Amino acid sequence: MTSKRWRSIVLLMALSMTHCSRPPESHLTLAPICKAENRSAWMSVSGLCHILAFYGLGPTDLPGIASGKEIITLLTDEAAAAAAFGRSPFVKAGEGVRYALFDEASWEVAVGEAHRDQCLATFAALDLPLHTPVRLNSGARTLRDLLAESMAGFDLDRKEIAWSAMAFARYLPPLSSWTNRAGIGVSFSALANALMAIDLNSQKCAGVHVIEALLAIEAADAVHLILDPSTRNALRSRLNPTLRNAGERQRSDGMWGKSWCAGMNDETEPMSPFQMSFLVTGHLLDLFARLDSDRRPDRASLERAARALTAAMRSTDVRPNGFWVCPYSHAARGVNAVWKLEE
Ligand SMILES: [Zn+2]
Ligand SMILES: [Zn+2]
Repeated sequence: MTSKRWRSIVLLMALSMTHCSRPPESHLTLAPICKAENRSAWMSVSGLCHILAFYGLGPTDLPGIASGKEIITLLTDEAAAAAAFGRSPFVKAGEGVRYALFDEASWEVAVGEAHRDQCLATFAALDLPLHTPVRLNSGARTLRDLLAESMAGFDLDRKEIAWSAMAFARYLPPLSSWTNRAGIGVSFSALANALMAIDLNSQKCAGVHVIEALLAIEAADAVHLILDPSTRNALRSRLNPTLRNAGERQRSDGMWGKSWCAGMNDETEPMSPFQMSFLVTGHLLDLFARLDSDRRPDRASLERAARALTAAMRSTDVRPNGFWVCPYSHAARGVNAVWKLEE
């Protein structure tokens, strides 16, 4: 046999052994949007939460940030945080402290979380232990103190409760209820019902984090039975159709729009339709990739979305600025996770 012919047989064998859905990119990172020259765009509490969620505690390929561990220090050591952000992200609250909230409704806040309890939820997702030190100018604390303040200051009527819920679901069980500073009882059942009552149109990120929070409570309940039986049933009858419906609403281009589930309108303002579908598709892939296979769209649909999103990431509309840190990091994490899914 000629060596040329032999080579083509080997090549054919190699091709047939390769899974047909080979990833278009081997592994995405946040390096394209977090560069040295736009450091101020991502050197924020929310930016670092996203970077930490993406890289975990290990090494990063970003300029000036060696690892996720270094990010934990920037978020839990007040002096280091003040040096990085220009001022402390902590504010006094009740007996303790919490992170300042930096959103469109917060006045005179220059540094802080984009969502209340965004840091705690990020730490919770990484399973960071509650004895992790928090070094404040006023003295040594731990994450447990931040969590205690969050529980004391929590109320169900807040505009955004999803991030607090995600932190509580990871850190509190088997505790299933507590009393806040105002003397009002809060339970996981009440929290789940409040989350289920939210109009997702009113939420950031097309409400995907509300579903994420409900899934976190459901997972905690599966281990610790923190819900009453009727809430447990209501939760299941809400989550299963929502996830199924999301699968059915994937567009022919592989992406999802804002109306990714029933009840969602198509308005994208103040974002462009491109930004919104990028944001929603990235968030959904990030979420779906963490679900059991029977609860998410089939593999072919997820791969279609991963390819469409990877193409969208190369668009000149995606720029290294503060806006893109959130959508891009969810998208990159979701795409990477899709290519790592088991059969
Ligand atoms: Zn989001
Ligand atoms: Zn985000």
